Amino acid sequence: MSALEIHAFLCRKDNIGVLVHCEDGTTASIDAPDADAISAALQEKGWSLSHILVTHHHGDHTAGNLELKAKTGCRIIGPQTEAARIPGIDVSVDDGDSFTLGAHRVEVIGTPGHTMGHVTYFMPGERVAFVGDTLFVMGCGRVLEGNNEMMWHSLCRIASLPAETRLYCGHEYSLANARFGLSVEPDNAMLRNRLENAEQTVAAGRLNVPTVLDCELQTNVFLRPHNLGTRRRLGMGAVADWRVFGELRDRKNKA
Ligand SMILES: [Zn+2]
Repeated sequence: MSALEIHAFLCRKDNIGVLVHCEDGTTASIDAPDADAISAALQEKGWSLSHILVTHHHGDHTAGNLELKAKTGCRIIGPQTEAARIPGIDVSVDDGDSFTLGAHRVEVIGTPGHTMGHVTYFMPGERVAFVGDTLFVMGCGRVLEGNNEMMWHSLCRIASLPAETRLYCGHEYSLANARFGLSVEPDNAMLRNRLENAEQTVAAGRLNVPTVLDCELQTNVFLRPHNLGTRRRLGMGAVADWRVFGELRDRKNKA
């Protein structure tokens, strides 16, 4: 396997900037929350930007598009159904599409729910996925444009990637997510342990990415609506997983 270097850093208040650097010099920014922060990270690494891969149209993921494009001439790739709302977009992609970044294959997985056109970028050779605002560390994005059933289906698509897949998400919300998770699964020892680790990571000024899918499957309550303890706690019996997911999402919104 050829080398790929990934650099994550904080942007704006709680957005996560991610640069993906291939050995041939290709460098992609996953979303563009803040042109200045991304330019500084590029300079620090000595990389030049060639692509922006946009997960969805929200302003805190596209604010830096035009400035970075003007500075670097980078190509902007983003979801087709949101193309009209993504500044500077050059290439539209949809679920099932794939393209290459340097020598690396990137697969586009449609993960609607947070927004209707939200996509996840998966690099199968490297077992790494950029999930935007669909899945967070021990949490998930708000269901703003789609519905709970749609969002659940999108989370299932991420959950069905290889268990060792490293996930990079769009925001650092780990602590609030872990605390909410423990209110749902107070006996989940691994989740409790993760909260302690995440607290130390945040206190040290670092980010809790990447996370590993296998670890999320055991500690992210939004991926665990089948859990019998959770169903008992919510007073939900033999209903579809997405309904339990929806109840969790509603409770987190109010938490
Ligand atoms: Zn968003």
